Amino acid sequence: MFNSMRARLTIMFVILTLTPLVIVSVLIAREGRSNLQQQSIDLQEQVVQQTSISLESFFAERENELSVLINVYGLTSLDPQVQRDALLTLLTKQPAYYELTLVNSNGQEAIRLTRGSVVTTNDLRSRKGEPSFQSAIETASINYSPVYFNEDARDRLITISIPIEDLFTGEISHVLIAEVRFQNVEESLLRKLDLTEGEDVYIVDNMGVVIAHRNPNLVLKQTIFRLPKSQGRYTGLTGGDVLMAMDTVQLENLKLTVVAEKTFATATSLASDLTQLATIVTLVSLAISGLVVIFVVSRSVKPITKISRVAQAIQAGDLSARADEQGSREMSTLGRTFNGMTAQLQQTLLGLQDNVRKLEEANEQREKLIKDLQAAKRLAEENSRLKSEFLSTMSHELRTPMNAIEGFTGIMLKHMAGVEYNEKAERYLKKVQSNSQRLLHLINDFLDLSRIESGRLELANLPVSPVEMVKRWEYELGVLAEGKDITFKVSVAPNLPETIYGDEEALTKIARNLLSNAFKFTSEGQVTLNVECHDHQMSIQVADTGIGIPPHAREYIFDEFRQVDQTSRRKYGGTGLGLAIVQKITRAMGGTVNLESELGKGSTFTVAIPIQTEQAQA
Ligand code: ADP
Repeated sequence: MFNSMRARLTIMFVILTLTPLVIVSVLIAREGRSNLQQQSIDLQEQVVQQTSISLESFFAERENELSVLINVYGLTSLDPQVQRDALLTLLTKQPAYYELTLVNSNGQEAIRLTRGSVVTTNDLRSRKGEPSFQSAIETASINYSPVYFNEDARDRLITISIPIEDLFTGEISHVLIAEVRFQNVEESLLRKLDLTEGEDVYIVDNMGVVIAHRNPNLVLKQTIFRLPKSQGRYTGLTGGDVLMAMDTVQLENLKLTVVAEKTFATATSLASDLTQLATIVTLVSLAISGLVVIFVVSRSVKPITKISRVAQAIQAGDLSARADEQGSREMSTLGRTFNGMTAQLQQTLLGLQDNVRKLEEANEQREKLIKDLQAAKRLAEENSRLKSEFLSTMSHELRTPMNAIEGFTGIMLKHMAGVEYNEKAERYLKKVQSNSQRLLHLINDFLDLSRIESGRLELANLPVSPVEMVKRWEYELGVLAEGKDITFKVSVAPNLPETIYGDEEALTKIARNLLSNAFKFTSEGQVTLNVECHDHQMSIQVADTGIGIPPHAREYIFDEFRQVDQTSRRKYGGTGLGLAIVQKITRAMGGTVNLESELGKGSTFTVAIPIQTEQAQA
């Protein structure tokens, strides 16, 4: 499903639009929440500071009233009745007091005025052992008691003890003990606060006991709350998730803490609302962008889908299929390019088919040509065979009368026929003899060649002594040096085997042709015959110091009837068959002929033939 371009594009677009939206929403919500939290804590802080200032000023007012009574009115120097009246006036005017007591320095109550009850002289008692009196005497300064509950007052009270010095002696003569109603504190401070839903302000004493709260039950139960060290987000007094701020009020020896709480949910409700709004906006955006993207992607992908269908049709072999060239600029360019490519492909394919057809035709023609050539070759072979047969028959037929002519001319020249000739007749006879010898020579060469070409050359495999064979060549061909200024030098390698197996007549034909050429084309100097043996090969080397062979002629002088040039033919005679015979016999024996020559300096022919020694034969 996600393989399709449509699905991928849609998902990509949705992710791209949604991601920044989600990130921004989350950031705004987080930032808003932390700002609101801080703002709320700041507000709480203001509330507690305000409350603690009020609390401080409440007790400062009490201290002030009492010290005015002591110092301005000179309470201890007044008549007991006046003292009583002054205290009564204060008690009546200020509802914060529950009881006012003037105690002598020995701890005996002098006057005690309690709200709502009559205290007679008999009711006066000693306060000597009580902490409120004791600590005032000991510290000689104003003292606050912890908050405590008084059954008669049905209220929480705080006792303020003020030591009074005698103006003349400087000694503490009395202690004024005032019991202040805490409910009054609550009424004058906490109730006045304009607290909203989720907000709470209360006071905790230095033991952790809640001493003032809008809910009197919590106070009556003497709930203990362990205060955190600093302001922040904590579990509140009633167990809720709250933001809390605190401030302490030091009343001489008594430390009170004003605490303000606000439930976290209320404090950050605006942020939650914002988050909710952001979620709704995100979802709506997602829905809208999704729809838009699906619409846009469908429109963009449609032409591509069409082109891919056309491409599939072309792949299936329908080269006539064409893409749509309408639509957006890019799509129409793509369509045109695609169609151009398809047309080119079609043309190339047609061209290829044409080429294949031409190749097939050419192949057919080639096969026909091969057949024709094979037929022509067979015909040529047949012709060659017939030609060789004809030549050999004809030569044979010619040789017999030529032998007779040459023989009889010899007999006549040797005067064996009993006939005398004059000088002229003898000259003619000699010409007849030499020409018939040349003809015989030519016929013999012909016969050799045609025998080789017709495949009738049978090489003998008989034991031959190479040393003896070379001696015979030296004897037979040495005569050619006669009458010329030529040294004939024969060298035979000492490692030559005693016997080899081969065809002496064929080897002799090779040596004879090479040596007669060497003598023929050398007017002075030296002709060398060198025979040696190595690596199961016998090498017959004929070197001369004659006219040499030009480089271009080295390619064709081994062909039949070929000589270096016409001058050579006129000057030296010959048929042009000798080297052809040498090469053909050598090849028939599996050997090679090599020629090195320098014009005007001489030539060296080397024939290398594989040989079988006695041992190998055995
Ligand atoms: P022929 O000697 O009867 O002309 P060959 O086939 O033996 O025929 O030689 C072909 C030609 O090669 C010769 O006519 C000659 O021009 C050249 N040739 C052969 N051997 C030599 C040589 N030793 N020195 C110079 N030329 C040579």
